[in-house]
This record gives sequence, structure tokens and C-alpha cells, in this order.
Amino acid sequence: MSPTWSAAVRIFWGTLSAVGLLYVAGCRRESPVSDVPFCVPSLFSGDAALKEVAAFVSLGPRVAGTDGAREAALHIKKRLAGFGVDAEIDEYIDATPYGSNSFRNVIGCLPGNANKILLLAHYDTKGGVGDRFTGANDSGSGVGVLLELARIMGADPARNSLPSGRPSVWIVFLDGEECSLNYGAVDGLHGSRHLARQLVDSGDRASIKAVILLDMIGDRDLTVTLPRNGTPELLALAFRAAEEEGVRSSFSLFPGSILDDHQPFLDVGIPAVDLIDFEFGSGPRKNDYWHTEQDTLDKLSSASLTTMGRVVIRMVNALK
Ligand SMILES: [Zn+2]
Repeated sequence: MSPTWSAAVRIFWGTLSAVGLLYVAGCRRESPVSDVPFCVPSLFSGDAALKEVAAFVSLGPRVAGTDGAREAALHIKKRLAGFGVDAEIDEYIDATPYGSNSFRNVIGCLPGNANKILLLAHYDTKGGVGDRFTGANDSGSGVGVLLELARIMGADPARNSLPSGRPSVWIVFLDGEECSLNYGAVDGLHGSRHLARQLVDSGDRASIKAVILLDMIGDRDLTVTLPRNGTPELLALAFRAAEEEGVRSSFSLFPGSILDDHQPFLDVGIPAVDLIDFEFGSGPRKNDYWHTEQDTLDKLSSASLTTMGRVVIRMVNALK
């Protein structure tokens, strides 16, 4: 992910895999009618999310295209299955500055009506940082929160008898967010570009009511800096949800745009917002832990993960 004052980005759409198209189609099934609430925010446990982060980063680095990334994808799928959430790994080939490479998105599907909400986080780590870099915050924190959301939504007995009134929720773990050299047509945002293209080609684009991206949201000193390249209604919804959760003071607008996994969805007209804390460092307004071996588990707190999980639940509950 990269801060930028211009949201302009050239997009290369990767080759669609048959597996991905089939899975996107499979997620279309609908559930019966019910009026029960979708999910109760207080069910979200930051402690459980932090344990997920710890277990995930203990697997080691997970740079896209490596065995570590493959193991990470398998771990996520296994965790989702354990929560009773249908999940598939969508493996695909995409161009990179060093030739073609394999990438894998892991997609968990919570059935609902024909409308869809996509909750996203990337799970790969930046390459070349150092042997000890396992990215607790970038990207373990997003993975931990999504897994905990999957646990409580997957275990909700009401959810499976839900909802004509409630949208389906896809919980998506993206590969290849980090660039090898510089963000561009064949470098970085591989998973999000691939999924956005699939949604266009499958005809699902109009049914996506919101893409909510989580990135770097475990910092003990939580300062969510919402980038301005986001759909205004979803930015407003994020602030409203934070207000309801009593954490509005931890949320602000970033001075500019941030190029992150939500951008490919914005580029094809899908509403999207990036919940990111881009002040991850040793002091206020510093970001000096980012992409360093200082990005370790001790910098995270369960309280911050709780905040983010509950804000996301409030946002999901408000979307129709
Ligand atoms: Zn990163």
C-alpha cells in the first residue's frame, strides 16, 4: 500500500481462473427470509482476534508466490472451515515485474440475499524487509479481525436462517497486495485487481453494496486514517459506526489518498472504503514501524482489534 496525492493508477487485469469464476457463482445462493439482526457487535472478541494474529504470524513470512504464502492461504481456509464458513482458495496466475507468478485469494462466503458486502484484508507480507519480518500489523491484524468476524458470523445460528433483508457477506483474504518494486500495471494489488475483474466479468458488480478493506488496524495506539479515495457514503458510515461504538476520536480523514486494495473496486464503480491506520510508529504521526522488523505482535492490542471488529459489524448491520 502506498500513500499518494493522486488516486490515478493503471490497472492490469489478471487472467481469470475457472476456479474463481465457479466460486463467485457458487456464492450467489440465497437464504430464506428472517428479520433477526445480522450480528451483535459485542460478540466480537479482540482477544480471540489477537490469538488468530499470533497463530498466523507464527507461520513466518508469506511473500506472494512463496511456499510461505501457500501455507498461509491453507491456514486461513482451515480456520474458516473450522468456523463452519464455506471457503475456497482461488489460485490464479498474474504478471509481475519478474514474470508470471501464482497468487491465491481465500474467499469465505456467508450466504444472504442477492446483495453482497465484501470484507477484505490482504495476507501477504512485503518481501525484502528482513528474515524476521512477519508483519504482525501489516497484514496479520486484518487477517485476525476477519477470522474473528468469520467465527462469530459463522457460528450465529440465526445467520444460516437469514435473511431476505440481509446481504450476503464475503470474507476475502487477498494475496499480492505488496509490490515487488513499485506499484503499477503488473506490480502490487494483485488479489484485489483479480477479484474486481471477476466481479465485472461475472455480472456481480452491481450487487456489491460495499467493499470494506481492513489494513494495519492492530496498533495499540489506534489512529484510523481513512484515505480520501473512498466512497463518501461509506466514509460517512465508518464515522457513524465509530461514533456509535464510542471510538469516534480514533477516526480521522487522511490528508490525501492511499493506494490500497480498495482502489481496484473504486476503479470499476464498486463502492469501497479503506479502514487503515497509517500512523504505525514510535510516536504521534510517525509510521516508522511500517515495513520493518519492528512490526511485531507486541505493538498490537486486543482493544484495537475489538474496536475495528465492532465498527465493521456496525457498518455491515447498517448496509442493505
Ligand atoms: Zn505493507
